[in-house]
Amino acid sequence: MADAAAFKPLPLRKHTGTAHRRLRPEFSDFGLEDLEKLTELQAVELLAKHFWGSATEMPCPHCGTIDTHYWRRREMRWKCKCCDKTFSVTSGTPFAGHKLPLLKILKITVSWINGASGKPALQLMRDWRVAYGTAFTICHRLRESLVRGHNTGIVCGVHEMDGLDVLGRNHAAKRGKPQVVKSTGKKEFPKHLLKDEQAAGFVGPAKPPKWDKKANQHPDRRILLVTRLRGRSKGMGAVATFVAVAITESAKAVFTLARRHASAESAIMSDEDPSYAAFGSYFAAHETVNHSETFSRDGRISNNLAESFNMRMKRLIRGVYLNVSQKYLADYGCEAAWREDVRELPTSRKLGHLLSMVGRVGVSLWWCGFSHGQHRGHELTVDGELPAKARGRRKGQQPKPPR
Ligand SMILES: [Zn+2]
Repeated sequence: MADAAAFKPLPLRKHTGTAHRRLRPEFSDFGLEDLEKLTELQAVELLAKHFWGSATEMPCPHCGTIDTHYWRRREMRWKCKCCDKTFSVTSGTPFAGHKLPLLKILKITVSWINGASGKPALQLMRDWRVAYGTAFTICHRLRESLVRGHNTGIVCGVHEMDGLDVLGRNHAAKRGKPQVVKSTGKKEFPKHLLKDEQAAGFVGPAKPPKWDKKANQHPDRRILLVTRLRGRSKGMGAVATFVAVAITESAKAVFTLARRHASAESAIMSDEDPSYAAFGSYFAAHETVNHSETFSRDGRISNNLAESFNMRMKRLIRGVYLNVSQKYLADYGCEAAWREDVRELPTSRKLGHLLSMVGRVGVSLWWCGFSHGQHRGHELTVDGELPAKARGRRKGQQPKPPR
């Protein structure tokens, strides 16, 4: 029997006060009850202030003229002083041409924001008594705003990068293991590629990590790459998160993501994956941490912020959305990234942050006419747009009648 006296439990995590910050009353400063009190006119004013910063002066979505346009109370629309066309508060946004009352869309949005790791469309459907397609497209219009409004830009600082195996059959169980191919039996690694287990400083496994991974990968498997900007002060966590979907965690894929969001003066922290090997010559610094030895070195070299995002992304897929398709994985990834970035904000500011993006990305490119069969035909990957595999009912197939 093991010596009980020698047993040392893992050190407890230091108390950081994060939970306390979120328990303060200021953190939940805005809710559905406040929305209930608003009239439809006040809802228009609220949206106008978040979109344009003013409910009286705004740009015309047709000609771009910024002016105090004529307000038509009965139609709830403005008439442009320059081009004489009329527009509503949602014209030129992903919610243009909405049929649901504005207040209800706002309520569904606040309800969606308040989910810790996301909110399923089925739950929104039951809560708000709307069709499933309505709840689903509202959520995706919000996600589209995040893909095109939040997952952009270049920032300078310390970036932590990592990739996460997601989707594909049994992707978690198969991670890092050679796959069995039926016709040839178990795959053998070529001897010359194996590391010498007797050598000094050997750290397992002996197999080369990337050997023929692409050929053995399930066609549905995807890698969600993430880069997170570390906050300036200690204990602050990450302040900006960017994601991209890749077919494999190749050097080209990680490099594209890094160049998209990290300036050349940035320092990159990653694990010892060979795909990051060339980073040292493109960025000011590149540090790696060997995860089979330690999680961080010298108290500063780690990519734990990226790993914590991966954990939350897994929770979002396995705990909330359950059935995320390859086609919309990038959208869900952007949602998780946004939820991480605004985690310290009270509800009213989260709503403001989200609406400011809804107001500036323009009309929806992917969700107009969804109920009429106009679906996005491609998935968004770091290499560009890939034709997406269709899912759901086949064309012309009718749903089963209720029993
Ligand atoms: Zn105009």
